[in-house]
Amino acid sequence: MFSISQALQGGRLVNFDELRNSLLKIGLEESQVRRGQDLPSELLKDEALTASGTVPMALVYPTSSAQVAKIVELASTFEVAITARGSGTGMCGACIGGPDSIVLCFEKFNQILEIDVENQVAVVEPGVTLAQLDDALAPFGLVYPIFPGELSATLGGNIATNAGGMRAIKYGVTRNQVLGLEVVLGNGTLMRTGGKFVKCSSGYDLTQLIVGSEGTLAVVTEITLRLFPRPKFTATLLAPFADLEQITNAVPKVVSSGINPLILEYIDAISIVATTQNVGLDLGIPEEIKQAAMAYLVIVIEGNDHDRLDGDIEQAATLVSELGALDIYVLSESVSSRLIDAREKAFWVAKQHGANDILDIVVPRSRLPQYMTAVGEVATKTESWIAGCGHVGDGNVHLSIFQQDSGKLHEAMTQVLAAGISLGGAVSAEHGIGREKRSYFLDLEDPAKIEIMRSIKAVFDPKNILNPGAIF
Ligand SMILES: Cc1cc2nc3c(=O)[nH]c(=O)nc-3n(C[C@H](O)[C@H](O)[C@H](O)COP(=O)(O)OP(=O)(O)OC[C@H]3O[C@@H](n4cnc5c(N)ncnc54)[C@H](O)[C@@H]3O)c2cc1C
Repeated sequence: MFSISQALQGGRLVNFDELRNSLLKIGLEESQVRRGQDLPSELLKDEALTASGTVPMALVYPTSSAQVAKIVELASTFEVAITARGSGTGMCGACIGGPDSIVLCFEKFNQILEIDVENQVAVVEPGVTLAQLDDALAPFGLVYPIFPGELSATLGGNIATNAGGMRAIKYGVTRNQVLGLEVVLGNGTLMRTGGKFVKCSSGYDLTQLIVGSEGTLAVVTEITLRLFPRPKFTATLLAPFADLEQITNAVPKVVSSGINPLILEYIDAISIVATTQNVGLDLGIPEEIKQAAMAYLVIVIEGNDHDRLDGDIEQAATLVSELGALDIYVLSESVSSRLIDAREKAFWVAKQHGANDILDIVVPRSRLPQYMTAVGEVATKTESWIAGCGHVGDGNVHLSIFQQDSGKLHEAMTQVLAAGISLGGAVSAEHGIGREKRSYFLDLEDPAKIEIMRSIKAVFDPKNILNPGAIF
């Protein structure tokens, strides 16, 4: 085995062959290193609608923390950029490496290391997918409760984007359920943060700083996650409303009613038709209600006691009826799971119909009525078509913008984001900034905050090799 300094004797890394030779000298195998030019197009991009693929110098598949540390040390010595990649399901071009970069792919670094039933904790490698973890936890009667819409996403990617999803109204987002990390810093140093405990007042919370940092502060090599008992039953209520404002006004009242929903989503009339048709689901809603409904509220409640759940769903039904619902449908378990599945596929439907960009702004939930009015005004002013659905319980809406003229699209995006920020919101609730939302973020965010963020990055990654170009 060569040391890294021996591996690097002979000069600066300038091309793929030199890089591969150095990687082989520090212990990687041929099969772990691929030339950028040989990669299929799906490995060159993510799901951002506006991103085109970029060919990196190399794609490398580490299989251990020690390998990641050596690769980062090598890259640091020669100042080669490194971009981590999970499953590439991100929405903002955050995992797309530059032309001279190394992309670190975690597909082969994907073992569930421990399911600790007593402490209700799982310890996983970064390439473990959400689907893989959920399958492994079910036999133990446990669940990792964060379910962003795409279950092929990795836990490493979820940490880096602080992924959210539909159940955030009850369980919070990724950062609320991450107890500890093992990471590699920009100079190749391995570091552990947190642990198998929920309380810690011992200096700065570095775990929380790394969650949501989009691979710009550290590469995540191990994750300790909090688990919960897996509830036995769910019940779902679907309520059509004559206008969206009634829904946005209803949301704070549903939240404060104490029914503690697992999911509280809105789907506008256009999106419900498109998403249910996409999965061949007929909700059995009478034609006259469909004609009158402009948007739908979906409430899912979970529990272990059937009778208590029935009581909760009855309370929710009475409440939404008082709040103006046109009708109320209690969905069977199978129709409910198909509706949630249809909603999770909303992105693919918007993409298929030619959406030009998608955003995931967040505002305080009580400001949603004003926000959605502002969105309507922007649509008219910029001659754009804007459809949406979203995690209304969290004040987080996903808007698909249809506008082929790039100037008008930029204007519509800027105005829709600026309207949210002026109401106390933020550019992204869960998808992140990456490369594709960077210009909006830098234009609209408080410069003082951005300056502090840049300074923090410089401490973790003094040579700016970790995912440069993402966020800043
Ligand atoms: C249909 C669909 C629905 C979706 N629904 C939701 C939703 O409801 N909520 C939500 O939050 N997101 C959603 N997403 C977005 C996406 O699934 C998440 O952003 C997810 O966290 C990305 O994981 P990934 O493994 O694909 O990461 P990638 O896209 O590969 O990478 C994302 C970021 O993570 C970084 N990264 C990856 N691995 C590591 C690592 N080991 N160390 C450091 N950085 C790393 C990358 O550099 C990049 O910055 C959806 C996506 C799709 C396609």
